[in-house]
Amino acid sequence: MSLTGANIANFSDEEARYFLARMRWGDDGTQVCPKCGVVDRHHDIKSRCQWSCKHCGRRFSVTTETPFADFKIGYSRLLLAIFAFVVNQKGIAALALRRLIGGQYRTSYTLLQKIREAVMLTMPREPLSGVVEVDGGHFAGKRRKGRKLKEEKGPAELPKKYRKPQQRDKISASEFPHHPNRRIVLVMREMFKNGEGKGAARTRVAVIRSENTADIEALVQQHVARLSTIRSDELTAYGNLKLLGYAHETVNHSVEFSTDDGVNQDQAESFFSRMRRAFIGVYHKITPRYMLDYACEMAWREDARRKSTLEQMQMIFKRVCSSGISTDWLNYGRNGHKRPVELLFDARVGASP
Ligand SMILES: [Zn+2]
Repeated sequence: MSLTGANIANFSDEEARYFLARMRWGDDGTQVCPKCGVVDRHHDIKSRCQWSCKHCGRRFSVTTETPFADFKIGYSRLLLAIFAFVVNQKGIAALALRRLIGGQYRTSYTLLQKIREAVMLTMPREPLSGVVEVDGGHFAGKRRKGRKLKEEKGPAELPKKYRKPQQRDKISASEFPHHPNRRIVLVMREMFKNGEGKGAARTRVAVIRSENTADIEALVQQHVARLSTIRSDELTAYGNLKLLGYAHETVNHSVEFSTDDGVNQDQAESFFSRMRRAFIGVYHKITPRYMLDYACEMAWREDARRKSTLEQMQMIFKRVCSSGISTDWLNYGRNGHKRPVELLFDARVGASP
């Protein structure tokens, strides 16, 4: 059976439950008890949609000790939401998901944010090696265009702050370096080694306030193995990488996209392309508080781009299951709970070694 939205949408809660169980624990019909960790064919209590451990008696469901442990939307809708998440290549807006699975906007929003948070918290830590492209992209913090000039009035009557030509989409980062919401998404992408494939294999992301030497060197040392080759642009912040034990190749973007030796940053640009399309076309606004979550989502989408739908769903659900109970999205909207601070690279993700 091919995996399509029509099939998934027709699943009953019971079918969806077994589907999720196979994605979480594999196809052999066994489950893992969350309390004692025993892998077995535990007693299936169909009336409660739970299993009872043969060894310690603990009752558990397919979402026990995951961010969806307290979710009450039913397994078929949860499965449909995971399907919708993976097949939308630039992400899916919570409003769009709500049309698909029904219920309140808040339910869809929390569901998507929980998936994103899980992807972020389970971002692999093994350092990249070989050829690694490193680049920073500017996101958010765009200055809004001023109010429009009334037609009968001439430009001279405009208040002074509106007199300059408005070029909202052409404002360079250097003109407004201190916009409070502007952040840099730093991306590091390892190329496939010879013969394994084409393009980038693994991606790491981080959110920083500016492309400065200290942050970039700390991140590169944290995520890239020594003796690797780093490809970057000619920004001075990358200038000392040779001293830190890396081979360093640069490309001057004001002159060329790719040097005669083939040094380029196409894979980093490819990541930014997807991120920017998601930003403009789907999410419209990403605040610094959750920017790392969105960047990790896009990094996962880039790395999983050649997997089948089922494989992608398995990858996502396994990461959700291994991320533990969500702290930032538990009780969201009920007691005004919000993630207290934005996550920069040195916060919970990838604490410096
Ligand atoms: Zn047990």
